[in-house]
Amino acid sequence: MARRKRAANDLVVIGGGIAGLMAAAHACRHGLKVHLIEQDLLLGGQVANVEAVDGLPAIGETSGTVLAVSLMEAVTAAGGSILHEPAQALEAGDGGICIRTEGGAHETDAAIIATGARLRRLGVPGEEALTGRGVSQCAACDGGFFRGEDVVVVGGGDAALQEALVLAPICRSVTLVTRNALRAKRAYVERITAHENVRFVWSSTVEAVLGEDGVRGVRIRNGETGESEELACAGVFPFIGSDPNTGWLPQHFPRDAGGGIITHGLAVEGAPGIYAIGAVRSGYNGQIASAAGEAVAAVEAIVRARQG
Ligand SMILES: Cc1cc2nc3c(=O)[nH]c(=O)nc-3n(C[C@H](O)[C@H](O)[C@H](O)COP(=O)(O)OP(=O)(O)OC[C@H]3O[C@@H](n4cnc5c(N)ncnc54)[C@H](O)[C@@H]3O)c2cc1C
Repeated sequence: MARRKRAANDLVVIGGGIAGLMAAAHACRHGLKVHLIEQDLLLGGQVANVEAVDGLPAIGETSGTVLAVSLMEAVTAAGGSILHEPAQALEAGDGGICIRTEGGAHETDAAIIATGARLRRLGVPGEEALTGRGVSQCAACDGGFFRGEDVVVVGGGDAALQEALVLAPICRSVTLVTRNALRAKRAYVERITAHENVRFVWSSTVEAVLGEDGVRGVRIRNGETGESEELACAGVFPFIGSDPNTGWLPQHFPRDAGGGIITHGLAVEGAPGIYAIGAVRSGYNGQIASAAGEAVAAVEAIVRARQG
């Protein structure tokens, strides 16, 4: 049987977070013709603005920007190209794989979906209207506006505690409002509890963000007693999880209840040559080291398939 003609790209990676950048950099080292598509101007995804990313043991703590820029340089130095446009559709069939953006169609022999996840919003009254006027999801970008002020961080996982650790030295007080027990790593818990200006409000959720021109407080509800109370604060930082960015993908791609792409290994079932890695994938464990490992494993599978 005649082999299908090779596409313009060996590999298109969609998403320029750490997973996508890592995949693109590794594929470039294999000599593949790689095209990376990222919707934002900034690369790095969820950690783009994180001051102290940890979990890559050989590196120690580093900023998300340094990590992203060093990976981007590895991609471009090896001849990979980066396009800053949102991917709008993916088509796959006997003719190959095609990723559509506003600027055109990007044909490829293989694709890695690394569109990650977006931080979940509280979804309560006042949040949307006060976003940018006291509600923020980036302590490194906006923490300085709250110097000497009282702020609330919502959530009890790694991200909430990491952001609280950025705010604690700047703000007068940081109140962590959490529905459940802390789920964060012990190292973060030990560091945050060492700050005298940090306190915890347990078993509680935020019902409303209060304020007109800027945030003046939150109304919280205790899930055990059913009682509500107001907490005065100038800033609210919600870190209550994230939802996978899969809305642009074909409906028939298998998804779990949370919207994450279900893979067999890392391959998308029923879609030859297409892989999903990192935070967009069902079962991803939330650690950058895993995103990097999945990136390398997906590229190795693509290289083996090309050789076979
Ligand atoms: C505040 C915070 C701190 C964290 N700190 C750590 C840490 O210290 N250590 C650690 O191990 N983990 C940390 N994490 C978790 C870590 O950020 C994630 O596990 C990791 O970023 C997932 O990487 P990803 O590339 O899969 O997805 P993402 O980081 O979500 O990147 C996805 C990228 O795809 C892009 N994209 C989305 N849709 C499209 C589209 N249609 N077209 C083109 N591009 C698209 C997005 O713009 C984004 O750049 C932290 C998370 C947060 C929120």
